[in-house]
Amino acid sequence: MKNLLLNSTNPVCIINESGDTLKVSDNWLTVFTPFFKKNTQITFQDINSISNFDLIEYAHKCLVGDVIHSPAIRFFDLRFQEFWFEFLFLPTTDQLAHTLVIATDVSERERQNHLLLKASEIAQIGCWEINTINQAIFWDEETTKIHETPSDFIPTYENTIDFFKGEYKDRIDKYIKEAIIYGIPFDEEIEIVSYTKQVIPIRIVGKPEFHEGNCIRILGIMQVIKNQTILKQNLEQSKKTFKDAFEFSGIGMAIVSPNGKWLNVNKKVQEILGFTKEELTLLTFQDITYYEDLDLDLDLLDQLVRGEISSYEMKKRYHHKNGSLVWAKLSVSIVRNDDGSVKHFISQIQDITREIEFEKEIQDQKEKFWTVFNSSYQFTALLNANGILLEINEAALNFGKVSRDEVIMKPLWKTTWWKYDVINAEKLKKNILLASVGETIRYDVQVMDGDGQMITVDFSLKPVIDTEKKVIYILAEARIIEDYIQALKKIGESESKFRTLFELSPVGFILSDLQTGEIKDINQSIVRNTLFSREKILQMKFKDLVPREHYPTLSQIETQLSNKGYFDSIEIEYLTSKNSTFPAIVDGVITEDKQGNKLIWSVIQNISELKENQARLYQLNEEIKEKNAHLFRSNEELEQFASIASHDLQEPLRMISSFISLIDSKYGVHFDDKGKRYIQFVLEGAARMRLLIHNLLAYSKVSNDFSKAEWVDLNDIFAEIQSLIREPIIEIQPLPIVMGQKTPLFHLFKNIVQNGIKYQKSGSIPIIRVNYLPAEKEDIISISDNGIGIEEDSIEQIFHLFSRLHNQEEYEGSGIGLALCKKIMDRHNGRIWVESEVGKGSIFYCSFPK
Ligand code: ADP
Repeated sequence: MKNLLLNSTNPVCIINESGDTLKVSDNWLTVFTPFFKKNTQITFQDINSISNFDLIEYAHKCLVGDVIHSPAIRFFDLRFQEFWFEFLFLPTTDQLAHTLVIATDVSERERQNHLLLKASEIAQIGCWEINTINQAIFWDEETTKIHETPSDFIPTYENTIDFFKGEYKDRIDKYIKEAIIYGIPFDEEIEIVSYTKQVIPIRIVGKPEFHEGNCIRILGIMQVIKNQTILKQNLEQSKKTFKDAFEFSGIGMAIVSPNGKWLNVNKKVQEILGFTKEELTLLTFQDITYYEDLDLDLDLLDQLVRGEISSYEMKKRYHHKNGSLVWAKLSVSIVRNDDGSVKHFISQIQDITREIEFEKEIQDQKEKFWTVFNSSYQFTALLNANGILLEINEAALNFGKVSRDEVIMKPLWKTTWWKYDVINAEKLKKNILLASVGETIRYDVQVMDGDGQMITVDFSLKPVIDTEKKVIYILAEARIIEDYIQALKKIGESESKFRTLFELSPVGFILSDLQTGEIKDINQSIVRNTLFSREKILQMKFKDLVPREHYPTLSQIETQLSNKGYFDSIEIEYLTSKNSTFPAIVDGVITEDKQGNKLIWSVIQNISELKENQARLYQLNEEIKEKNAHLFRSNEELEQFASIASHDLQEPLRMISSFISLIDSKYGVHFDDKGKRYIQFVLEGAARMRLLIHNLLAYSKVSNDFSKAEWVDLNDIFAEIQSLIREPIIEIQPLPIVMGQKTPLFHLFKNIVQNGIKYQKSGSIPIIRVNYLPAEKEDIISISDNGIGIEEDSIEQIFHLFSRLHNQEEYEGSGIGLALCKKIMDRHNGRIWVESEVGKGSIFYCSFPK
């Protein structure tokens, strides 16, 4: 018993005969405590106290030896959420503990049942069932409600059929029989006469259920459709209201068929168009649309039909029956059938003939006004009574060099013409005040134009009065008084500006007569370059400034002038007063003076400096070329020397090495320790020398001849290098294919890799990484190591021949390797460089042009 109490997942409690709690499980407490506002133990009595049923009676029933189920008991937690539990009463043999009560949470099931019940209640859906075996009938609560029967009413097949109204009795009887025999379900809208003699429209649905080929029952529902009938009535009513609204609307309304026929029109349409309804139904809208408006109308209608727009509006003209044109505002929408085809169009038509005429009249008047307003030379502006600028004509805007937007809606005294002269602006303000109470004012005043000049104008302010004698606008007008004087002054000024520029220009100008060649005008630059005085030049002719041997160029100029009226970029020399010459580029064009004489404007640019620079540049170029040739020669000689020397040195060295080896093997045993060491030194020295010569030879052999270049796959090169190195200490990324010579490239990368392995702190394990860094114009290969690194100052030096940073005792080497690498990269038109950090390692970069 105890075990059951402890191990059950359901809450369990043990009670005695009178319902007192003897023991509860742990989860009994956790489950039921949230439903009670107390902290002490929840007893069976507590549960009983909130139940609608007498649970103790269930417990008593159980004493007889039966297992008893309680109905679902509802609990509310503190947040009023509903929970349901069923209790199972189990009799026990225990003397003291009579009954075991086991609780089961059935909340989920009960909530759903509850929901279903509520839903049917709200939808007024009743359920019924006919047991076809024993003819028993079952109605649920809602069905009983629909029939309005008293609670003790017992439905039978006969009295159920009896509730259906008149002819429906037979019909339903027939349906039920067909359902039993043929298994046909039914769904009908009919009427019943309720217990209280009310006629109630209902929908009745029945579905037979079969077992081993026999109909065992018919299940069905029943729903009141009173509301839907009301809807139908409402629809009828609104249809009628619509019909009235349609007929008597103040707006013309028409229903038009897909091909444009008038199907129905209201009174207003007949009024607007002058045709009767009958006459219109014989016509289409196309027949009475003015031809100029038809295309747009049809186009919009087409868009409407294709669903591109949902409605459209346009202003159009119809032919009235009396032959006149009627302006109308037309709005069209579309009504479609279920399959999407067009059922008809609904058109609203408003007569706007009068509005259009009125609009046109206003437009005409406006246009007239603006033409006059803007074509006046006088400055005219319209102000409101407070002096705010409402409109202004173009003459005034041009005078002030301002746009309309910059001045409109501003007080006149704050606009560009007035605002810089405080005294005048104040005066204007006062005068506007006077004009606003009806005075006309006129006075001379200075205003500022667009160039910042103060110009005197004859200015007036005239009030515009409405019918009630109120000033609504003020008309401001201004006329320049000193037009002519002002204009002259301006020309004079601009001419003197031009003259200054002309004189200061570094380029020379000569104005000469086309016919006679007499010089009419020159600028200062001509005086500076020719060293003649201005007076002297003005007595000369154009050709007097040119040395004789250049006369042929003058005739070239003359030909160009007569052919095209100008000449350009002609090189010629000019004379100076010192009898020397200077080279120049000259351009020219024919012009006319006020008297109609033909003149030439020539523009002369002294190019002596340019020429000198060119000559110097040429000379420098020549020198560089010569130096290059020299360098090339000495390089070649040097390489030849290195090649011969290293080659020729090999022979004696081989002799020294082999004889020393002979001496060592034959007489070595006779030497004392010192002697043996000396022999060893000689052998080592010879070996080093062999390495040196070998490397030098390799260096001198790298040829200039790039004709042997081919596509070299760097992956192959590095695979070969890797195979030479015993330990797998190189990590190689996929590499590109470059244009070059295979053997030198192999030596290049082998050298760098070997250096990376060699220049390490003793004991450290070398790691070499080879990477490909593609760039726009070059392929860059980087080879990094984790070696000792190179001092910043020595970075350049290591690529020089015989340059070593360490002695032989530290690291062996010849100092040729990197010089060779550099030479190989040079031959490939590439670059080699290194980045390094002492103690961390170095990265060598080799870049190949793409
Ligand atoms: P060597 O035969 O002496 O190695 P190299 O021309 O190959 O001649 O290199 C020149 C010098 O550059 C070396 O003596 C060494 O001091 C320095 N050097 C070259 N590679 C490295 C490297 N990976 N790390 C550190 N120092 C280097």
